Amino acid sequence: MNNQDSGTLYVVATPIGNLGDMSQRAIEVLKQVDVIAAEDTRHSGRLLQHFVISTSAIAVHEHNETKVSADLVKRLEQGESIALISDAGTPLVSDPGYHLIRMAGDAGITVTPIPGACAAITALSASGMPSDHFSFEGFLPSKSAARKAILEKRVNETGTLIFYESPHRILDTLKDMTDIFGAERESVMARELTKKFETIKRAPLAELLSFVKADNDQQKGEFVILIHGAEKEPDTSADTQELQRVLKILLNRVSLKEAVAIAVEITSLKKNQVYEQAVMLKNK
Ligand code: SAM
Repeated sequence: MNNQDSGTLYVVATPIGNLGDMSQRAIEVLKQVDVIAAEDTRHSGRLLQHFVISTSAIAVHEHNETKVSADLVKRLEQGESIALISDAGTPLVSDPGYHLIRMAGDAGITVTPIPGACAAITALSASGMPSDHFSFEGFLPSKSAARKAILEKRVNETGTLIFYESPHRILDTLKDMTDIFGAERESVMARELTKKFETIKRAPLAELLSFVKADNDQQKGEFVILIHGAEKEPDTSADTQELQRVLKILLNRVSLKEAVAIAVEITSLKKNQVYEQAVMLKNK
């Protein structure tokens, strides 16, 4: 239940490089709230100055978030409104804010998102990678063994994988990705998005690694790496094999519709599963 007398907690996205991406709504909310909870008040000071926002800011970062969140929730309960921002992009996406949003929600405070830039989604939108099914993996561990262990767990994932990476680890990470996913796995490096030296390069992993290795400039800045999902394994279960055998016989004799109806009766499998297999066999 929402607490009627409390203020609102706004989760405000800020640009990931290009100040032109700041939304009008974000500026208005930041001007109007009682206080801005910022990951780094000095860093955000430049952004606030640029947009002539004079609201005071307090720091909420990974080291003080739990403690400061309790104080902020109290202020919200007393009717103040607060805007949460991070250094860049959408708060909580590889950035602090989770504890605050959770505590505020539990206290019945209205949490309102003010959407805007997010490096992962910006990269995905221009990557040419399948976007119907993807997972955000954030930053990998800094040590190679731990990094490889995580990557190994993702080898058979069929959706697009999205990672964040920093300039001093980009080469090592691309090397480890090539070892684990294979030289041929399609990948994208999206570097310095929305900024002057924006680069979006799609290539098999080994080729991408050589491209980055060959040019020091390509090792600078901020990175999103996307990895194409694994090819789907053919379904080799006994049920599917039997269904395919039955359907092959039927499709040679009757219409697709009849074949599906008869195969459902024979196998007791679900109609949409039978239909899917029948269409696949018919199109082979
Ligand atoms: N909250 C942010 C968001 O919404 O994307 C992400 C914050 S995270 C601490 C910073 C990382 O995001 C960078 O190391 C980089 O991997 C990625 N990133 C942020 N801005 C980027 C940009 N302009 N181009 C490419 N990657 C970027």
